[in-house]
Amino acid sequence: MIKFEPRVGYFSAEIGVSPSIPSYSGGLGVLAGDHVKAAADAGLPLVGVTLLYREGYMNQHVDAVGKQTEEYPPFNPSWLLEKLDIKVSFHINSHTIHLAVWQYWVEGAGGYRVPILFLDSDVPENAPEYRRLCYRLYAGDNQHRLYQEMAMGLGGMAALRAMGYQKSIQVYHMNEGHTAFLTLDLLKSAGGNVKQVQQQCVFTTHTPVPAGHDEFSYESALPALGEYAPENIRELADNHGKLSMTHLALNLSRSVNAVSQLHGEVARKMYPQYAVSDVTNGVHHLSWTARETQHLFDKQMPGWVQEPVELLKINEVPDDALWDAHLENKINLLDYSNAMTQKGLSPNLLTIGFARRAATYKRANLLFYDLERLSEICEGRVQFVFSGKAHPRDEHGKDVIQELYRHIRDLNGRVNVVFLENYNMWLGRLITAGVDVWLNTPLRPNEASGTSGMKAALNGVPSLSVLDGWWNEGCRDGENGWAFGEPAVPSDRSDANALYRVLAEQVIPTFYDDRPAWLQIMREAIKTGVNFTARRMLDDYTSKIYQLK
Ligand SMILES: *Cc1c(COP(=O)(O)O)cnc(C)c1O
Repeated sequence: MIKFEPRVGYFSAEIGVSPSIPSYSGGLGVLAGDHVKAAADAGLPLVGVTLLYREGYMNQHVDAVGKQTEEYPPFNPSWLLEKLDIKVSFHINSHTIHLAVWQYWVEGAGGYRVPILFLDSDVPENAPEYRRLCYRLYAGDNQHRLYQEMAMGLGGMAALRAMGYQKSIQVYHMNEGHTAFLTLDLLKSAGGNVKQVQQQCVFTTHTPVPAGHDEFSYESALPALGEYAPENIRELADNHGKLSMTHLALNLSRSVNAVSQLHGEVARKMYPQYAVSDVTNGVHHLSWTARETQHLFDKQMPGWVQEPVELLKINEVPDDALWDAHLENKINLLDYSNAMTQKGLSPNLLTIGFARRAATYKRANLLFYDLERLSEICEGRVQFVFSGKAHPRDEHGKDVIQELYRHIRDLNGRVNVVFLENYNMWLGRLITAGVDVWLNTPLRPNEASGTSGMKAALNGVPSLSVLDGWWNEGCRDGENGWAFGEPAVPSDRSDANALYRVLAEQVIPTFYDDRPAWLQIMREAIKTGVNFTARRMLDDYTSKIYQLK
């Protein structure tokens, strides 16, 4: 066998390639998984590096009043991953921490395969307090996070070296700041030559919210880092007296990018001293289309798996074929929903979906701003499917779900709203493909990109969304979906009223009274989706960011 020679080292604290490997917690991980899958499709020699979380993506239970509890299903990596015969270690406070490395090959549409390395701290050589280092994502205190990020960056580099992969790597891609300690390893090898390290590194920032960026006090970080911290660490990583992972990545990269055009504008204001470009996110077309959608595409536009641009021919697909495939997807969702909730959703009603992590800025409850108005507009005409998880330690996120349950109770059946528990990749696809309209209500400009709406679009499901993230560039209002809200001065009140207006005046009448127009909107949604595939994203990274020799 020819030895695999990666040219890109892709580091991400989460990589979610399969619902069966719980090494992700939400959008960032799903995006990273799609990035790796697109590399495999495109035949790009990339190696993914991440941590192995034995207690990663949790199972959610929500009780009758909306209280979320979590459990972590047992995950044994040997079920799906191959344990490599290498020994890897790094130092915390001059203690040696050992890591096992597990490899998983992702196979692309053309049969090309790229590996992901999962770093695992649960080895007998480690002291008990370090064995659980990589058990959970974003768990524990700040120090625990510091240690995890050291495992990610420093352990990750050690793993690449042990595999001989670092010899051929031309570019290290830091997907979010969690991975930035890899630069300290590179600096050491480069004898402290900052320019040389910058030539090797590129950085993608994902969050417009300052609180989303990890920072550590030098008091805790410097002893832990020990020999890894160069003398000029404060020059390289400082932000207001703290060691900032984002600033470390910014200072040691030749390229920095945001994840949508609008996020680019925000990030350029956040980091005026840096040249921030943007590459809008995308989703892996084969992973996020439902079975019936795939059958339709296979029959009508063969070749779409290898070349998603084939889907631009959707105008030639007859109305009946498109509608029948959609209806099958819808029935699959409603069958599941009715089995889980006994709320009797009907395939004849306009069905609107909302499913994502319960973070407050996503405003899952905006729809319920005025229950009276909502009932007047939707009673007997529109039904809603909701789903979403709060991070186990996010009390505000958990409150969002409880509030949603209160609204559902107060609606008293006038509008049928179901909540499906245990949102995950599988349910995400079922919902994004099975509803008629995808609802997205973030407080602009907090949604850096958002990807669920792209998943919906590829299945012919138009978005009804605030002009934030990807939709700010993807929307052609009234043609491929709808926009609402005042972009300049968003508020819950004005956004909710705008949402009701668009629902009542455009979405509902078109759905019930003008089916040909509706089908054309579905086709335009699919064409828009082609622009937001992981393939397009990867092509952009390859041509604009990686610039491989
Ligand atoms: C797609 C997806 C996400 C990300 O959704 P956003 O729209 O970016 O919030 C999160 N979790 C799961 C399980 C997903 O499938």
